[in-house]
Parts: sequence; structure tokens; C-alpha cells
Amino acid sequence: MKAFANKNATSIREAVSLLAQHPGKALPIAAGSDLLGEMKDGIETPEVLVNLKTIPGLDKIRQQSGAVSIGPLVPVAEVAESQLLHTHFPAFVEAAAVIASPQIRNVGTVGGNLCQRPRCWYYRGPFRCLRKGGEFCYAPMGENRYHAILGGGPSFIVHPSDLAPALIALDAKARISGSSGDRTIPLEQFFVLPTVNVQRENILRPDEILTEILIPLPAPGTRSTYWKQMERDAWDFALVSVAAAIRQRDGKVEQARIVMGGVAPIPWRSHEAEAALIGRPLDATTAAQAGDKAMEPAQPLRDNAYKVALSRAIIRGALLRLI
Ligand SMILES: Cc1cc2nc3c(=O)[nH]c(=O)nc-3n(C[C@H](O)[C@H](O)[C@H](O)COP(=O)(O)OP(=O)(O)OC[C@H]3O[C@@H](n4cnc5c(N)ncnc54)[C@H](O)[C@@H]3O)c2cc1C
Repeated sequence: MKAFANKNATSIREAVSLLAQHPGKALPIAAGSDLLGEMKDGIETPEVLVNLKTIPGLDKIRQQSGAVSIGPLVPVAEVAESQLLHTHFPAFVEAAAVIASPQIRNVGTVGGNLCQRPRCWYYRGPFRCLRKGGEFCYAPMGENRYHAILGGGPSFIVHPSDLAPALIALDAKARISGSSGDRTIPLEQFFVLPTVNVQRENILRPDEILTEILIPLPAPGTRSTYWKQMERDAWDFALVSVAAAIRQRDGKVEQARIVMGGVAPIPWRSHEAEAALIGRPLDATTAAQAGDKAMEPAQPLRDNAYKVALSRAIIRGALLRLI
């Protein structure tokens, strides 16, 4: 691994100022469960790491009026075990509980999970692919069974985070701090397609960090769930996942948010599936129609058409769980 300097930030201001002092050469680090692997493999070669774990107060879950605030340094395991979060946001807790292994859930943080880099084998391997500044995405012509079926091109990675689809389904907001100030945006707008930036998965500028996730308390009658389909039963990334949050009134769906993981370079919100549900009763027929509608825009590659059938099935399954 290339040598680097470690800087322990003691405040958000200090962290973003350290990042700004070393433009393009510094990266924030939380628990390092993703970043250190990338550095060992020579994918990231920062000269300076800005340690966020030394900033006090960023590892708290706090109930506020109308929302729950999650610090970016909250370990994934704490989300999976939180009674408060389970009461209000089952999809978030269910997503946290199926991430990786107990060891990784204990160290990995919420902020690191949302900002983790893709798991594409060309990106992680010894290939100078588009995402690493090369000329080609190798997936369309190469081995592509785990790649994108929606929103792909010119890069076909899939976003690996399980927490992101759940949080977007729950309408979470992200607070971002940088050397020129703070901004709060819907988490949905945090992630960017390769057509916007082929080398990054989110809108963070080099001197910015994620400093808070805010999840609004759901309106009465809202139910949510997260369904993750893996190739093996544990310690695996999603082949396909779906987070569904539904509010019903008088026997009809009043509000629906359906967000998929493992299918696109960003957590993929299916407005088609949502439209198929709004104003109709949630039953086996509408659940199946939502799955079909979600897959209408799908454009599978040579080896990943199975994701289309799988997506239909788990959208239907997740919705039936909410009945
Ligand atoms: C074997 C293995 C299996 C895994 N399986 C899954 C899985 O099934 N599902 C899943 O969702 N994840 C999975 N992961 C990913 C895991 O959840 C992440 O590695 C972990 O959550 C990252 O947290 P961290 O604190 O270690 O982040 P780090 O490794 O410290 O950072 C990860 C990235 O985020 C950036 N970063 C960290 N915090 C911030 C912040 N606050 N603001 C801005 N940027 C930040 C870093 O610069 C880096 O680029 C797996 C990881 C491993 C190693």
C-alpha cells in the first residue's frame, strides 16, 4: 500500500478544511472496511486520510421532532439492533441486518455504507476501466452477470449499498458539509448516474463529507420492508433488492415509494411501480403489476436477464409482505 499521512479531525470544520487543503489528494475515512481494501489494491491512492472517527458526536441516533437523525459514524450493527428505528423504519433496520457479516456490521458505518465504492470486478480488478479513468467499461462486452439492467451506460456498475434503497424509500435527507458551508438534500439526489459523472457515485465534492441522515417520521398507516436476494444466504451483496414503503387509506394505496438495489448504478426508484399502485388496493394482482411495470424499462446485458425476472418476483414478494 502506498504511504499516506493520517490526520485525526476533531470537528467537522477541521475535517472539511483538511480535505480542502489537499485537493484531490485527501479522502475521508470512517471505519476503513471499504477504503482500506481499495488502498491495498491500489484503486485509491490518497496521500492524506482525514479520520472522521475522531470527531465527537457523529455516532449518535437521536429522535427529534418529526424526524430521527442518524450520525454518519453510527455502526451498521447499531441500526440493525435499534428498537427506535425498528418501530418507525422497518425497511432501514431490515436492510442493515442483512449487510455482510456481524464483524463488518460492527465496524462499518452508515456514512461509509452510503459512500462505498462499486463492487464491479473490472473496477476492483487490474483493469483501467472507465470508472478508474480508462476509456472503456468492460462489462457490456465482458462478464456481466452482476451488472446493471437499468440506468446503465456508459458504465454498468450497480450501486452496492443496502442502506441506500431503504433510506430513499423512507424519504431520508442527507446533510452535507463542505469548506464553503452546509446543504441538506433528499438522499435520492445524493447519487448520480454515470451519464452525470462516470467516475463517482455521488455528488460529494472533494472537500465535502456526509454529516447527518434525517429520516422523517412516517405518516400513520405507513408500512415499509426490505427484501434482499443474494446468491448465497449470508455475507453477500444483493443480486437484486427492493425497499418498499406504502401508505394506505380506506383500502387503497395513497403513497408508494419503491426503490431497488443491485440493478442500476444508483439506488433505482421505480416511478412506474409506484404509479401502478397509487389509488388501487394492495393485493396480489397490483403487487404483480407493480413488478411488471418496474421492469418495463429494463435493458439487460448478455448474462443478467435473470435480474429482470428476479426483480419482478421480489417487488411482488415485498409488497405482499406489507399486506
Ligand atoms: C466483505 C464485505 C462484504 C460487504 N457486504 C455488504 C453488503 O452485503 N451490503 C452492503 O450494503 N454493504 C456491504 N459491504 C460494505 C460495507 O457495508 C461498507 O464497507 C461499510 O459500511 C463502509 O463503512 P466504513 O465506515 O468502513 O467506510 P470506509 O471504508 O471508511 O469508507 C468507505 C467510503 O466512504 C467514504 N466515506 C466514509 N464516511 C464518509 C462520510 N461521512 N462522508 C463522505 N465520505 C465518507 C470514504 O472516503 C470511502 O470512499 C461489505 C463490505 C465488505 C468488506
